[in-house]
Amino acid sequence: MAAADFERKLIRSIRIFPLATAVMLLVAYLLGGFSDRADPLIARDTVVLFLKVFIAAIPTAFVILFILADWLKKRDSKRSKAAQGKFAFADPFLLPSQIMHGYKLAFITGREPIFTGLTGDHYSADDLATCTLNPEHIPPVMDCDCGFYAFKELRDAQFELSINPGAFLIDVDLFGIGFEYARGFRAESQLVNSLEIPKRCMRCKIFAPVKFVASYKMGYNSFAAWKWEVRCHMCSATFKEHDALNFAQMNDKLGISARI
Ligand SMILES: [Zn+2]
Ligand SMILES: [Zn+2]
Repeated sequence: MAAADFERKLIRSIRIFPLATAVMLLVAYLLGGFSDRADPLIARDTVVLFLKVFIAAIPTAFVILFILADWLKKRDSKRSKAAQGKFAFADPFLLPSQIMHGYKLAFITGREPIFTGLTGDHYSADDLATCTLNPEHIPPVMDCDCGFYAFKELRDAQFELSINPGAFLIDVDLFGIGFEYARGFRAESQLVNSLEIPKRCMRCKIFAPVKFVASYKMGYNSFAAWKWEVRCHMCSATFKEHDALNFAQMNDKLGISARI
């Protein structure tokens, strides 16, 4: 938990670096650090020295902090592996039960729209997990990665969304046998409750989206595929009718309309 939070804050703070650099250059400029005047408020040498330190020190600090974040994550996963070893229930028919509601990211791909996980697996709005590694598995299997995953906290999914452009945030319920982790669940079956429509057009990032449009994209997740995204009036103007769906139609196609 702590490691994940730390890494999230680190990635957020690195986005400020270009802005901080611009502000610093502006301040140096306003104080006369770049001028040839005889008596600037700051001597040019001082500015140059400071810039050199800044350019070297800040990225180095980030590298060190990322190494630290990685170390913290490894330590956390070692701890949770150790805790998994303690899974033991005397009676398999008396497992504790819990509502597994969560949030996750999905792409919408295919000529006929279908949910596609970040790993490239396709699933419908109401689906059972399958294992691609071992056909004998009925997910979730303890020592395998199979099963449907979801974050418990909306903010975890929102953060993932911020680093996965093109993905959508969906609200899900997981059912069946499930495992609980520090930040989420992994379970046998999944029901998609709703799809969150992004606030802005996925192309211009300025106007409100009005519809879904499909385009054929190369190299997306290392394979070429039809990919759906939401766009504003302007950015969707050139799309033919059969390459566009309104929000209700998309919910219909995905099979989540009945529950909204
Ligand atoms: Zn498996
Ligand atoms: Zn747009």
